[in-house]
Amino acid sequence: MNTIYRDSSLNRRRMRDNYTNLPSLFFSMQRVVLHVDMDYFYAAIEERENPELQGKAVVVCMLSGRSELSGAVSTCNYVAREAGVRAGMPCSRAKKLSPDAVFLPVRKDFYTSVSDRIMEILRSYADVRENGDAFEQISIDEAFLEITEKTGWDFSLAFDIGNQIKKEIKEREKLTCSVGIGPNKLIAKMASSVKNPTGSQS
Ligand SMILES: [Mg+2]
Repeated sequence: MNTIYRDSSLNRRRMRDNYTNLPSLFFSMQRVVLHVDMDYFYAAIEERENPELQGKAVVVCMLSGRSELSGAVSTCNYVAREAGVRAGMPCSRAKKLSPDAVFLPVRKDFYTSVSDRIMEILRSYADVRENGDAFEQISIDEAFLEITEKTGWDFSLAFDIGNQIKKEIKEREKLTCSVGIGPNKLIAKMASSVKNPTGSQS
């Protein structure tokens, strides 16, 4: 009886070891990647700079200068989106959809200076690697950061880090962002766009 017990106990342990080893092997190949995307970036900065814009439709335009509203919409805020305004559409069409909207020209240099500060915050959360490839800025308001080592593949820890990032950016820059978490860049980006009201817009 004793022998049988010992044998079965050993078998159970072997089975358990085999069972637990397989996922750990699988997860050892996994990464933990965050995709951070600022919400309505240009429009949100303009709202922050001018509190009178709060609650109004704000449309930031890349103006060509040919006439007053010749050019394309670069970014708009949530109020303008509710009226049907979208990035890329002619500003004249945006004006028809949202006649009361405040139209502002793109201030690229200023947005870039805000972006630089945000990217420094994001970089500080990424894993530290000699070649620096744990952080990748992909546009003025989007970045991927790998936190595989920091989290040890623990996605709940990754969730906490995502919330910390949102909190720090909100406190320091008074801006909001969407954060997606995934085992690779593609899934992380898809995850951030689910909750991002701006989609892939700046
Ligand atoms: Mg964005």
